[in-house]
Amino acid sequence: MVDLKGQYDKIKEQVNSSMLEVLDTTAFINGPEVHAFQKELEDYLNVKHVIPCANGTDALQIAMMGLGLKPGDEVITADFTFAATVEVIALLQLTPVLVDVDKDTFNIDPEAIRKAITPKTKAIVPVHLFGQTANMEEIMQIAKEHNLYVIEDNAQAIGANYHFKNGETKKAGAIGHVASTSFFPSKNLGCYGDGGAIFTNDDDLAHTIRGIVNHGMYERYHHDVVGVNSRLDSLQAVVLRAKLPNLDSYNSARQAAAKKYSEAFKNEENIEVPYTESSEDTHVYHQYTLKILNGKRDALVKHLNDHGIPCGIYYPIPLHSQKAYKDERYREEDFPVTNQLVQEVISLPMHTELDEEQIDFITKTVKEFVNS
Ligand SMILES: *Cc1c(COP(=O)(O)O)cnc(C)c1O
Repeated sequence: MVDLKGQYDKIKEQVNSSMLEVLDTTAFINGPEVHAFQKELEDYLNVKHVIPCANGTDALQIAMMGLGLKPGDEVITADFTFAATVEVIALLQLTPVLVDVDKDTFNIDPEAIRKAITPKTKAIVPVHLFGQTANMEEIMQIAKEHNLYVIEDNAQAIGANYHFKNGETKKAGAIGHVASTSFFPSKNLGCYGDGGAIFTNDDDLAHTIRGIVNHGMYERYHHDVVGVNSRLDSLQAVVLRAKLPNLDSYNSARQAAAKKYSEAFKNEENIEVPYTESSEDTHVYHQYTLKILNGKRDALVKHLNDHGIPCGIYYPIPLHSQKAYKDERYREEDFPVTNQLVQEVISLPMHTELDEEQIDFITKTVKEFVNS
């Protein structure tokens, strides 16, 4: 599904020499590399504060802690996403409110958000799923009307743009009150271990969060709030600093591969290719996800595996049906899109090193099987 080795080979010299420097200086935690990366990412995203942390799940949790959400507060998020999003809501004893997604973009449906709002609602967590920005114009408008926080889960869309109707463009993760991301190795900007970050333009919130990631300390050994221990280490920062200047070209390579895939599938009546806006920079293809419309999805997975082609089902089970997150408030008829998507979606290999020959082989194998 990914080719981390091919990508590493191109930045090897820089990564290796900077890693050796870190080993020599022994500044493993909160060293200059972490601070430099933080600044560079702030510039790239055009956001005032980046607070590095240990992983993307922590980043989400810390963002919610920073906003001061309290047990019982309702937090609306998508039914069709990775479990981390709902997991941290539940862990903090907030009340997750799962809602359906849009059938074209797979992102949280603003109409479904509106219907789910109650006097207890405090926040909305849009996930920019598979690398495509959610409908932030609508979501920010809803948040404003109802006085809610917006926490962007940007683990899959770093580098994607969002275009507002007034002509303004912002980076995914720089739009809501606060955002989280993950630097897990297979993400669009991945390190060689675990890593994550929180972004915000709010000075007070950034200050609060800097204390939370460090055991609730704002002054050494004075613990003002209950915090956590969540840090990005210097060796991971070295990798991220080597990759960040290439992020736009990495994302362009993904977009080019997606274009070739979609071109090959364009006349297939049983295959629906990913939806894209007229402005293609809103999707950075963390995943390239097709819908297989003739009921052959599961058989296709087996067929591709038999032919040595990796593929993935993201995600096979709606969150509202997961044992850990079941709730009698949910009714099946409220999730028609997610319930259908879990049966139709399949993600094909997507990374920065895909070449024409690989894409031809993959698309040919998929088409032959789906039409057989
Ligand atoms: C990967 C991911 C996370 C979690 O990130 P980790 O670094 O693995 O903790 C959260 N949300 C989404 C949507 C993700 O894809």
